[in-house]
Order: sequence, then structure tokens, then C-alpha cells
Amino acid sequence: EQQQFIGRDGVSAKRKQYFYPCTAHFYRDAPQLVRGSMQFVYDENGKQYTDFFAGVSVVACGHCNPAITARTIEQLQQLQHTSTVYLTQPGVDLAERLEQLLPGSLRRTFFVNSGSEANEGALLLARMHTGRKGFIALESGLHGRTNLTMSVTGLQMWRTDKYLDEDVTFIARPYDPELTLEEAGARSLKNLEHVLQEKGDHIAAMIVEPIQGNGGMIMPVSWYFREVKALLDQYGVLLIDDEIQTGYGRTGAMFAMEHFGVVPDIISMAKALGNGVPVAAFATTDEIAASLNRPSASTFGGNPVSAATALAVLDYIEGERLAERAAELGERLKRGLQQLQERYPALISDVRGTGLMLGAELAGSDAVPAAELTDDVLEEMKDRGYLIGKNGVNRNVLAFQPPLIVTAEDIDGMIKALNEVLLQASHPHRK
Ligand code: PMP
Repeated sequence: EQQQFIGRDGVSAKRKQYFYPCTAHFYRDAPQLVRGSMQFVYDENGKQYTDFFAGVSVVACGHCNPAITARTIEQLQQLQHTSTVYLTQPGVDLAERLEQLLPGSLRRTFFVNSGSEANEGALLLARMHTGRKGFIALESGLHGRTNLTMSVTGLQMWRTDKYLDEDVTFIARPYDPELTLEEAGARSLKNLEHVLQEKGDHIAAMIVEPIQGNGGMIMPVSWYFREVKALLDQYGVLLIDDEIQTGYGRTGAMFAMEHFGVVPDIISMAKALGNGVPVAAFATTDEIAASLNRPSASTFGGNPVSAATALAVLDYIEGERLAERAAELGERLKRGLQQLQERYPALISDVRGTGLMLGAELAGSDAVPAAELTDDVLEEMKDRGYLIGKNGVNRNVLAFQPPLIVTAEDIDGMIKALNEVLLQASHPHRK
């Protein structure tokens, strides 16, 4: 039976009728997207949007990039899925490829299907390796929606279940608008030291995002993770590095933890590894991997289609030098945002992040609270043909994380549109 096109209103009505009510939390008036091509997506009327959100850092190589989809389709027609009990080549090739990219002696990869599942596996692995139960996590972090990953998620908004695992200790994040990054980093470290002194021998791992995505593009001071790792090592606590939103070049490095010169014990990855096809993994050393010593398997984890796609993604990211590109274009985008901050100091309170993972925090007023202003900007930008994101503890940070193939012209055009929107918002008698 052929699909009947029901238009934006039809899709919206069906979504309201058949999806869970909790799924609508972003746009007031979401566009219906029907087609994508590199940095652009299109609605049913053919209106073009430049994508500065990329599905939260997923489509790093661009929508429907033919260099990648060709290899997905080739594998789809060759051998789609079997079981992990048989030998197939794409998965082992991908694991070997990741080993070349992973830092230190991390060389073993376990494939799963989503970021939540990768972190869940990493947390389980840490418990099995250390024989300890507890976890430490950062305030305002986000690690997933399964029970254990939600338990280590600090962002209140994403803690749905009130019966979460209680053996998690949250420590202050290394950011505070009232403090310098140095001071906030030192405070967080002190907090960590106290927790470790009190119950370090009960803690299996600390899980962190090197740069918090949903928490509002929070990048700690340069020495922070080095000190964290040294403290954790004293107590035999593992460091789990959640690179799900930051991985594969987005921040100007293959993994964002490289900016801090730290080799974690376990790295979890997902999102951009498949450029839109589900593939995720957690990687570790020989020694830690040996502790996952009971049978464990994932039906779709590392299936040939996902693995072939991820191999094409890594070829593309390396071949096109997308990490270098992200660093370079990120500078341009950040400069543009900083210039807007200078022009509208009452509206933009902070610009932060690195590479093509940037945030602009909006300040509110009595008339228009910051979260409402953020939603206004999102809608206005969408109408002008730009999709941007929002995040942060107070839902008032504009998020910029475009495909890494975005161009300087796209960036300049987006900044120009944002300038118009902010100019309108700064007018005291705006509608
Ligand atoms: N960790 C981080 C840092 C994330 O940003 C996300 C998703 N936003 C997740 C984990 C969860 O990934 P998934 O939605 O694939 O389960």
C-alpha cells in the first residue's frame, strides 16, 4: 500500500493522537521534514532549512551523504543481519578501525544500538570490573533514558522515574555563572575529593561528558579532567567518558577528552558514528574488558549494515579532515556569536563551547523570561530557514551543532538571520 501524504497538520494531529504526550517538548510549531541533502533539509512545500542542529550532533557528515548511503545500501543488499554467533567482517573491521582512533590502550569494543545502551553497558562493566556498586556523576549531565543511565543523569528535566538507583552521588559541575572557570573547577574538584574520602572504596566509576551537551555546552577549565583522573586513580575508581554527543571531530578533536590530555578507562559512543543509522559502542582496555566475563550479546549490536555505515562515516570524517574543519569553522561561528553578544549584551549573557559545539545563553527580562525568549528565537529562526537547538538547565541556551560539512557562507547567513531576530527581540515594543 502506498503511503498517503497527509501534510504537516496531518502528521502533527497523528503524532498528538498516537505518540505519548511526553514527546512534544521542543518547537511550538515544528516543521515537517521530508528530504535532506548534506547541510540542508526540506519541508513538504520545498522550503529549505540549513540545519544547525543535525539531530543533536548526529548527522555530522551531512544528510543522505551519498558517499555514506552508497555503502549502507551495498551492505543492505549483500547481507543485512545475522546473529553475533556467526562471523561477519564489517563489525570486526569497525572494531579494528576504532582501535586506531581510541586513546591509550583502549582497544576492545562492544557494539550496541544507542547512546543509552552504550552507557548502560559501560556502567555495568565498571561494576563488574571493580566489584563496587556506586557511581559519581556531574550535576546537569545527561547520559540516557534507561534506568541506570537516567540514574546518573543530573539534569532534572530528564529524570522521569522517581524510583531511580539511589547509589549515585552528584558533584558540582565545573561551571557556575557567578564564578570563573578556574574557581568552578576547583570547587567541583574539592567536592569530588570529599566524596571519595567518604566512600571512594564503594564507587565503581565516575561518568562525565567532556563537554556537557544538554547541560548547556559546558566546557571545564583545561586542567579539570587531569585532576579528576588523578583523584579517581588514587581510589581505584574508573573514569567513563561519554563521547556520545562530542565524538568524531565535532569539537576539533576525534574525542573531546583529547582537549584535556586525559585517557579515560571506558569511552561510550553513539550518534554521529552512524550519521543517522543506529550504531553505538563502549570501548575499553584488555584488562577491563576481561571483567565482562558472563555471556552478553546484543541482537542488533554491530550488525553488518550499521558497521559498514560507520566505516564509511569514519572514512569520510578522516578523508575530508572534518575535525580540522570543525575547529576552523567553529572559530568563525564563535566569533559571529561573540559579536552578537557585544551588540546585544542584554540578550546574550554567554557564548561558550568549542569547534562546532557551541552555545549562546540568553538572558530574559521581566516581560520575556529567558526560556520564552529562547523559544521565540527558535521559531523565528526556523521561519527564516535555520534550524538551531536549545538546551541548558533553564532551557535558555541556543545550541549550534551543525553537520561538520557546513560552509562559511552558511555560518555567515545564519549569524545575519540571528542578528535580525535579536534586533527585533531587543525592541521594547516587539510583538
Ligand atoms: N549521552 C549523551 C551525552 C547524550 O547527548 C545522549 C542523547 N542526547 C545520550 C547519552 C543518550 O543517547 P540515546 O538517545 O542514543 O540513547
